[in-house]
Amino acid sequence: MQTLPSVLLRPGEADRVVGGHPWIYHGSIHHLTQPATDGALVQVKDHRQRQLGVGIYNSKSKINVRMLHHERVELNEAFFEERIRAALAVRHRHMPRATSFRVVNAESDFLSGLIVDKYEDVLVLQTSALGMDQRKPMILAALKKIFSPRAILERNEMASRKFEGLADSNGVLDGENVGDITIQLNGLKFGINLIEGHKTGYYLDQQVNYQAVADLVAKYNNPQVLDCFSFLGGFALHAARAGAAKVQGIDQSELAVAGATRIANENGLGVRCAFEAANVFDWLKAATVVPPHEKLIPRFDVIILDPPSFTRNRAAVPDALRGYKEIHLRALKLLKPGGTLATFCCSHHVDAVLFEQVILDAAFDAHKVLRRVASYTQAPDHPILPCIPETEYLKGYAFEVAR
Ligand code: SAH
Repeated sequence: MQTLPSVLLRPGEADRVVGGHPWIYHGSIHHLTQPATDGALVQVKDHRQRQLGVGIYNSKSKINVRMLHHERVELNEAFFEERIRAALAVRHRHMPRATSFRVVNAESDFLSGLIVDKYEDVLVLQTSALGMDQRKPMILAALKKIFSPRAILERNEMASRKFEGLADSNGVLDGENVGDITIQLNGLKFGINLIEGHKTGYYLDQQVNYQAVADLVAKYNNPQVLDCFSFLGGFALHAARAGAAKVQGIDQSELAVAGATRIANENGLGVRCAFEAANVFDWLKAATVVPPHEKLIPRFDVIILDPPSFTRNRAAVPDALRGYKEIHLRALKLLKPGGTLATFCCSHHVDAVLFEQVILDAAFDAHKVLRRVASYTQAPDHPILPCIPETEYLKGYAFEVAR
């Protein structure tokens, strides 16, 4: 084996790496023993020259090294095959019936900078780090061996690629030019487009929560349901199948509303679903204003709030919290006594404790007392490694209006 350039860390910087965090920032590095090429494998040592493992170097990124293994490994097809098979085993263990799911979730699966989503027999790849991008051919070979997919696409248009010195790149890497595809989520059919859809095609991280929330909907008699930020109707359709008399979905995207309407019809649930293109903030405001001396009559049994992340960074948190509070306050006003609010937050910068505090503040202002009946997290195909806090982002709660 050739000797690798060594990256020596400053004192005190090794513990995080030993604990399993794969990112080494520029500021943690004392020096390199010899120059390293961007994208090349390097060995990482602490300030006493003790081996910590190997990672991929990129001087252009804020993250100078992404660790791959605590021992010396060859970065070849066999390495990727082993890692991807290990990741797949986690999905098979925790989501045995799922046919569409995230196969590789980057850091969560010890492959920093690589995401692979499986949409039935089609795979969609995202490489957000130079080292992974350069090794696409090896990754493709490993994926073909494991899955024999109909096609492998790439959706590489994330802002983060710029910070790695990578340009956008979209298209078919292997196999057929598949755009439209129908995926199964908990037995419901979702016709989606892998080229035009959000992220790699669909938000897969709520797969388990769709059914969990639908199970709460099923506890009511002919319930009225409101799904805010409905996208293609993931929550709405599960709620309709669970027995909702009527589900109202709201999303500001006309495309999403058209998609959700079509998908509801394709599942035979169209008559019980109505999707409307509107800004949720405006819609909730309009729904909660009442003429003077009149009382607002709550009309929903279940309300779902699943907004996009309102925070790009920590500085945006106060504004985001005001946004979260407003939608919760208005949603609570629209909930019947005994109704359920199922609410989610996918912002890294707002943790579960802070999120719950905002909801309780809104409940105080709405003069409601809440009973927490469920807590939610991201589906197991987006594994959480507590030693890498960035792997945890989705949290949610279901609250009943107790009083
Ligand atoms: N609940 C969905 C995912 C929601 S993603 C699911 O499980 O699939 C967020 C959605 O919110 C996107 O579809 C986006 O179009 C929509 N959106 C973002 N801001 C909005 C706003 N202010 N009003 C209405 N919809 C909004």
